[in-house]
Amino acid sequence: MSVATAEDLFVAELKDIYSAEKQAVRAFPRIAKAVESEEVREALQEHLEQTKQQVERLDRVFEILEKRASGKTCEGMKGLLEEAFSHVEEIEDGPVRDAALIGALQKVEHYEISAYGTVATLAEAMQQEEIHQLLVETLEEEKQTDEKLTQVAGPVNSAALGQGDGEEEDEDEDLEDEESEDETDDEDDLEEDDDEEEVDEEDDVEEAPKKASSKSTKKSKR
Ligand code: FE
Ligand code: FE
Repeated sequence: MSVATAEDLFVAELKDIYSAEKQAVRAFPRIAKAVESEEVREALQEHLEQTKQQVERLDRVFEILEKRASGKTCEGMKGLLEEAFSHVEEIEDGPVRDAALIGALQKVEHYEISAYGTVATLAEAMQQEEIHQLLVETLEEEKQTDEKLTQVAGPVNSAALGQGDGEEEDEDEDLEDEESEDETDDEDDLEEDDDEEEVDEEDDVEEAPKKASSKSTKKSKR
């Protein structure tokens, strides 16, 4: 289908996002199977149900426009989902894979936020009130999902970094700790590694590696 007018563009963009949603509906169950965190799986399950409703909303949009919904493959979503699946293949199951998959899913949501933002704005300009409403409803769900994923990333990242068991209590404190520890951790680790090698050879200095032992065991799960 060639695009000449703003109306053509609108329909083309809608077909693109329709394809994106269909791909997401197929992919989410597979991604859900690959995550370890119950919270992440639940968030994904919930969004799968929402996504099915989003497809229905788009069906309604095409009905109003009297256009066919199909006929396009969203290459952007295809690439994003391929990236998600590559994490499943390349990372052993556990919190690190979960952290990677949350990141991949947030990229998907951000893509959708852009796409729905575009078509919602066009719908408004075209004074397509009902369509605008439907698209904004979905746009809000995608934004909420992105926020939800940021929330569940907290305990998952802690677990991935080997910081405690990633329990929910004191979530706020944990987040602050994480941020401040993170920066120093990386620097410390670099120095530690050097120190340890040198010390091992000399064989008699025990202080240096001990001082950092609590941090290095935290990281050893990586
Ligand atoms: Fe969606
Ligand atoms: Fe979504």
